[in-house]
Amino acid sequence: MNLFDDLPEPACRRNVPLAPLTWFKLGGPAEYLVEPQSEQQLATVLRRCHETGTLVHILGLGANVLVPDEGVSGVVVRLNSPAFTEVTFEEGTLNVGGGMDMTKLVRTCVRQGMAGLEQLAGIPGTVGGGICMNCGGRYGEIATAILRVRVMRPDGKIEERRQEELSFDYRRCNLDDGFVVSAAFQLHETDPEQLRERFHEIWTYKQNSQPAMGGQSVGCIFRNPNGQSAGQLIDLAGLKGFRVGSAYISERHANFAMSDKGGRSADVLNLIHTVADRVIERFGVRLEPEVKIW
Ligand SMILES: Cc1cc2nc3c(=O)[nH]c(=O)nc-3n(C[C@H](O)[C@H](O)[C@H](O)COP(=O)(O)OP(=O)(O)OC[C@H]3O[C@@H](n4cnc5c(N)ncnc54)[C@H](O)[C@@H]3O)c2cc1C
Repeated sequence: MNLFDDLPEPACRRNVPLAPLTWFKLGGPAEYLVEPQSEQQLATVLRRCHETGTLVHILGLGANVLVPDEGVSGVVVRLNSPAFTEVTFEEGTLNVGGGMDMTKLVRTCVRQGMAGLEQLAGIPGTVGGGICMNCGGRYGEIATAILRVRVMRPDGKIEERRQEELSFDYRRCNLDDGFVVSAAFQLHETDPEQLRERFHEIWTYKQNSQPAMGGQSVGCIFRNPNGQSAGQLIDLAGLKGFRVGSAYISERHANFAMSDKGGRSADVLNLIHTVADRVIERFGVRLEPEVKIW
């Protein structure tokens, strides 16, 4: 008996490999992969999981997730259907589905001379993943442009939360187990040429400071500890290029963990633990993973 027998294909599939759906390209299958076609279908799935105690994960573009080699039990949800990727623009407010690809969204806004999200140039992911992670960098974070977020609770109910009701922190947002189904951003019209130049400056900075985009990684593997750079500590500990099996620290950016093609998540996990141990031994600083380890 399938927990979701009444959901049509392709909304629910069993034993689906997750590696191709993540940037690390590692890890085993999801017991169930659910790609709901509407908010109502998402609510049905979440309620059923809530009532049966079934574990649920939500996956964006997998740009910050490490999936274990043995896979994930329970349900993995992806909001990739048109119901969750719609974009509308009205009087300075951009309304966008939680599954929308941020890179495409940022480019569209820049092309139309709408400023507010260009600080996110070069950061892969979905709108929902970006809000959950409060993604950003030296040019700013996603939080600054958010007006409100619609979140679905584990019982399937929708809650609308204004920017001031969410607490954004460095690479964190208090969604309290909610799934971002859509968000509204405040944008403003600006000189398109200047905006394109700004976007290009941010994009170029990103490309020059990290390994090539196509590599198997999830960006920075550790959070920066209080006022310090995790990458610099790893570099000073002599760990650039350090390898555990199929996983290694990038020579280009010491906070990027990379994997060989066909590698193992277990190697990445071992690498994370070993690097953290070496940094604590050397500098007494405890590094915490930024990557979400499922
Ligand atoms: C090459 C590269 C460069 C990067 N550079 C940066 C950078 O400069 N700055 C930065 O901040 N990050 C960076 N990252 C990390 C990554 O891009 C961000 O964390 C991004 O926001 C992840 O989005 P995602 O949709 O892929 O989320 P996923 O990786 O799929 O998920 C991340 C977390 O968000 C949760 N989540 C996903 N969707 C939703 C939703 N709809 N509602 C609630 N929770 C959800 C997941 O459950 C998980 O806990 C980089 C990654 C790569 C691969």
